[in-house]
Amino acid sequence: KSARKYLIAGNWKMNLNSAEGAELAKDVVALVGAQTDVAVCVCPTFTVLESVSKVVSGSNVQLGAQNMHFEASGAYTGEISAEMLRHLFANFVILGHSERREYFGETDAIVNKKTLAALAANLKPIVCIGETLEEREAGKVNEVIKTQLEGALVGVTAAAADALVVAYEPVWAIGTGKTATPEMAEEVHAEIRSLLAASIGAEAADKVRILYGGSMKPENADELLAQENIDGGLIGGAALKASSFAALVESA
Ligand code: PEP
Repeated sequence: KSARKYLIAGNWKMNLNSAEGAELAKDVVALVGAQTDVAVCVCPTFTVLESVSKVVSGSNVQLGAQNMHFEASGAYTGEISAEMLRHLFANFVILGHSERREYFGETDAIVNKKTLAALAANLKPIVCIGETLEEREAGKVNEVIKTQLEGALVGVTAAAADALVVAYEPVWAIGTGKTATPEMAEEVHAEIRSLLAASIGAEAADKVRILYGGSMKPENADELLAQENIDGGLIGGAALKASSFAALVESA
């Protein structure tokens, strides 16, 4: 675990305009901008990337996007490429979030194309996977995790290990206030790492950061982050308040 630097990433979702985002980013930079032990990243929506990019520039707070298209340019009305994100100094991108899968029809095959395109553009993909409550109750957690992970990572090699981030986000825990217990989460994280080991080798799998996401907040973070295979968090609601986001960074 010591070889993996914790990552705390804030997913702001479809909240805040460019001025509001810059304000929140200023507060985050003031609280954790000098942090070097933990990697910190904020992921505003596309229209807010530029103002936040200017605010975090020169600090240790990094920038991420919440989605991207897999093609580099062309006739894809409404879409945004990896290069366009790089131009704004983003270095992470969340891919395959459960909300994108549920509301925007993203499949494992699409997430795979985006993951390969992100890596090729030197963006670090945060690939989200996770089961629904129905799937958990049916005892299908490992099956779902395996399908989503392997589907997203076709063609990804050991060379990507340092850049690759996987986020385990049980769908029933996102925005619901319900968190997986540390033991429940660790069981899945360990499974994810062994699936990674089978596909890219144990040494590379050991370098991949696996984040937990789903109602993580200062009150439950310590125990989750103490687990052997939990290397940080993808934070929704609690990332919209600088003080709670900073507290999560401190927990890591
Ligand atoms: C998320 O959407 O990635 C997330 C984890 O949200 P929340 O923390 O609000 O559950």
